[in-house]
Amino acid sequence: MQSIGVLALQGGVAEHATILRKLNFNVIEIRTPDVLNSISALFLPGGESTTLLFLMNRWGLTEPIQRMGENGFPIFGTCAGAVLLSSSISEMGHEIKQESLHLADVKAIRNYFGRQTRSFIEDLSIQGLENTFRGVFIRAPLLQPLSERVDVLSSVDDGPVLIRQDNLWLSSFHPELTSDDRLHRLFLERSGLLSREE
Ligand code: GLN
Repeated sequence: MQSIGVLALQGGVAEHATILRKLNFNVIEIRTPDVLNSISALFLPGGESTTLLFLMNRWGLTEPIQRMGENGFPIFGTCAGAVLLSSSISEMGHEIKQESLHLADVKAIRNYFGRQTRSFIEDLSIQGLENTFRGVFIRAPLLQPLSERVDVLSSVDDGPVLIRQDNLWLSSFHPELTSDDRLHRLFLERSGLLSREE
């Protein structure tokens, strides 16, 4: 059985783990770098990106994950996880200097859908999925492509909310907060870890 890692320092870890177990993967919660070599893909969950990065630095996870991402390892970041994968980060309303893993050519505008009243649910059309997917947005970032290497797989009126750059997938919304496993599947299929369902 293949193992998939979920960064387990803070945020929505259990929900990703539940979906991955249902898809018959072994889930390894990542808190230290020593287990990174036993996984075939990695999820960076939602939560709070500055806290996540602080804890990743503290536990020596930033550099190893950065290297894996640069070397083609499949990583899916959801919400705060997507902010972490982006090469540039700004805050809605003002510029900020926030560090990240700088892996995908994307500018993440943090808290773009920031106010409580702008947390919302929208049925999204996603490239690669036949029917719409329920997107749950909670203080979500807008993802702006910065190069041609980036494929936009889904957008709302304000701009892109699901992006793929080769091995890296970034979603503004939380696919783990629905019982729908299709986006996890799509990522794992495209990463060669799951065969396509007929
Ligand atoms: N606003 C958070 C951040 O930028 C992300 C929110 C979330 O993951 N639901 O870190």
